[in-house]
Formats: sequence, C-alpha cells, structure tokens
Amino acid sequence: MKIQFGTNGVRGVVGDTMTVEIAQRLGQAVGTYLEAGQTLAIGTDARSSRDMLSSAFIAGVLSTGVHVQELGILPSPGIQLWVRDENLDFGAIVTASHNPPPDNGIKLIAPDGTETSKTEENAIEALFEAGEFRRVDWTDVGERTRTEQAREHYLQAVLDQVDVDLIRKSNLRVVLDPGGGAGCATAPELMERLGVETVRISCDFDPAFSDRPSEPTEAHAAAAIEAVVEHQADMGILQDGDADRAIFIDEQGQYVWGDQSLALAAYYELTRYEPGSKVCTAVSSSSCVQDVVDMQGGELIWTVVGSPIVARDMIRCGAVFGGEDNGGLMFTRHQICRDGLMAMAFMLELVAKTGKPLSELLEIVPRYALVKDKTKVPEDQKQTVLAALPGLLQGLDGVVSMDDRDGLKILFENGWVLVRPSGTEPIFRIQSEAKDEATARALAAPIHDALGRALTA
Ligand code: MG
Repeated sequence: MKIQFGTNGVRGVVGDTMTVEIAQRLGQAVGTYLEAGQTLAIGTDARSSRDMLSSAFIAGVLSTGVHVQELGILPSPGIQLWVRDENLDFGAIVTASHNPPPDNGIKLIAPDGTETSKTEENAIEALFEAGEFRRVDWTDVGERTRTEQAREHYLQAVLDQVDVDLIRKSNLRVVLDPGGGAGCATAPELMERLGVETVRISCDFDPAFSDRPSEPTEAHAAAAIEAVVEHQADMGILQDGDADRAIFIDEQGQYVWGDQSLALAAYYELTRYEPGSKVCTAVSSSSCVQDVVDMQGGELIWTVVGSPIVARDMIRCGAVFGGEDNGGLMFTRHQICRDGLMAMAFMLELVAKTGKPLSELLEIVPRYALVKDKTKVPEDQKQTVLAALPGLLQGLDGVVSMDDRDGLKILFENGWVLVRPSGTEPIFRIQSEAKDEATARALAAPIHDALGRALTA
C-alpha cells in the first residue's frame, strides 16, 4: 500500500482513496515513528467521515503503544496550539480543509504545533509502505483519553492577543459565515465574548456544506455579502472547512482578496515591532505585500509555496508575521500557523482601534492586476522545460532578476511572472501581476513564447 503526502497531509475521497485501511495503517506508521509511551493528540473537522477515520487512525496508534488524546471537533489551529502548549509528542488532524464533502484527509502536526516537515513525512511514508510496525502486547497498548479543554484554551489564547474591552466598547456588527465547518466550534463564541453583534450564516456543523462550498471564494460569499449590506455590518467573515483561514468582506459589501487582507495585517502587525522586522510570504503572493512591508521599514522574505514551508521559514528567519494570499495569516506572537480565529480577532481590533471602516483601512494597500493562465507540459518534460527557461529568457527586455526557489519567477521593472509546474496535473501554471491587466498579459506573452520554444526543442 502506498500513500503520498501533499502540501497539507494525506487527502482522498472517502471509501475510495481515503479508507479505514489507510487511516489505520497511517496510525500504525505514525505510532511506530513515535516512541512507545508518548502521546499524540487528535482532533477533526466536521465532516461525516470524521469518526470513521479518526477511530481507525487511533486504533493504529494505540497498537504501537502510543497514547492518544482526543480533542473532538476543533479548528486546525486550535489543535495545533494544544499540541504545542501541552507539550505533546505529536498531533493529527482529520480534515480535508476546503475540499468538497466526499473528501477527507489526515494532517500531521509536529510537537511545536507546526505542520510536519517533508523529512518527517518521508520517514512516516516509508514506514507506511514497508508495513513493518511496532506491535505491543496487551500490557503496553496505548491509552485513549478525551479532553474538552482544548477549545477553551484556544479561545482564551486568541482573546489574550487582543484588547477585549476596546472591541466590546466599539459596538461592532459582523456577518459571520464559517460555512458549517470546524469554525462553528469557536467563531460564534469568540464574537459573543468580544461583544460583537453577530448575524449568523451557516454556524451549525454541516458535513454536506449545503449552504455554500467550503472554499471562501467571492462566488461563495454571495449570502454573506448580501447580509453585510442588508444589516449594515462593519464586516463579513468567512472561513474554510477547518477554519485555519479567514476571508473578509468590507462594510460596503466588497469582497476583500486574501492578498489585501494579508498586506493590511502585515502593515499593522509590523507597527508592534522594531524596524527591520521580517515578514514571510510565498513567491505567488502579490507585490502589495512587498509594498506595505517597505512602507513600514520591514524586510520581506519570499518563500516556496505552501503554508508549512512559510511557517518553517518564519521560524528559521525569526519573522514576526507571515501568511498566504488565501486568507491564511500567521502571527508569531500567537502561534506560527495559519489561524482564522486569530485573523478575525485581529481585524476586529484593528477596526476598533483605528475607528476606521475596513474599506478605508484597505486604502493603504496598493492594487495590482493578477492574470492566471496555464499551459500543457507533459509530466516527463516538466523538469527539462523549467531548466531551459532562464536561458531562453536571456536578454529579454525589462527583466530585473529571476528567482528559482519555486518554479521560476521573472521580475520585471513593472511586474512579475511566475511559472510553476503543477504537482498534480501535466501543466505549468503561469501567474502574472502588474498595475493593470493589459501590462500583466504583455509581461506573460514572451514567457509563453519561451515555453513554446522549450517544448519543441
Ligand atoms: Mg484550511
């Protein structure tokens, strides 16, 4: 049996590529990777397959002599925080984040609360494939316990990061839409404790995501946008299925793109620290992040795409903040992982503190046009085409530099183009960004030409 860890653990379709057998075997592999007598915490999102998969995984872990502490349904960052703060030896989250209802998955968490590194995943993957697991006799089988405390610990930790009294006095009104996901376990209560008047949408667990798909895109935000306008709310907030991300709608009912909320948070978070403080984000993020970090005299460190990598780079370079352009914000002072609950508490405090509406706050964030495109590249040619690209672009007008830490990012005087091989399809994704769409397209044109030449070469 084989499995492959993607950017966010192992995922598949329940009953097909994600089964009881896989979950149990992964539990055995993780347990064998750990030492007998150690403890792993496990929590889930709200999907209907949560008990089936977590029970199988837990059985596998217990059989290796490792103890399991069950946390119930909780946002991923709540589980990660518990693993870190309780000094546990490992964590597991049964979730498929924003994927459709038939999917589920298992994500592994290191003792420091971050998502496991590639090295750890490779070791566990090898154990999974080899199938040589530690088996203990009846005297040493792991113990299974359950705690309800992780939820309160998480809520309190987020509340500790903001000025609760100030937010309470500001009489804010919010439209909250966790989409029936794990966010329902904590977001409505956070609003209550912050004294925020809340118009609730999809605030009950719904494994079918029947009100809206779990990914908080603009198209899926229609109900929340309408409610913000109707109720004259200060903002709307949407979450994905495991609530590690939060997406905002301003008081005028405008959907706020993830790169804008990332830049806004970076701008204000940096005011808490010395000049020169570092921020990390992936090479695919908008230049607006660079702009606001420059405005504050900070330093932006670009990273490879994927939240576990952004998090590890943040730790390595001592960044005070980081995140992704999909609504995943990481505040070092709280915990270095994407945290939707922390993101919403931060935005509410920001509006309360400045007395400015969200739309006005966003005016400091420069706007760019992003064009997303793709081109077919056969799997067996991906590496050679990518390697040939810099040579083929030699002497191209306006190129300032090239960055090959993830795919190839070509930086121009007036924008950039990022070429990245897809991990799952025989295509290259081509993103280009500039001040306007026509320029973004014009910048991408010679890159498309070069790719065409590399393919026929
Ligand atoms: Mg997620």
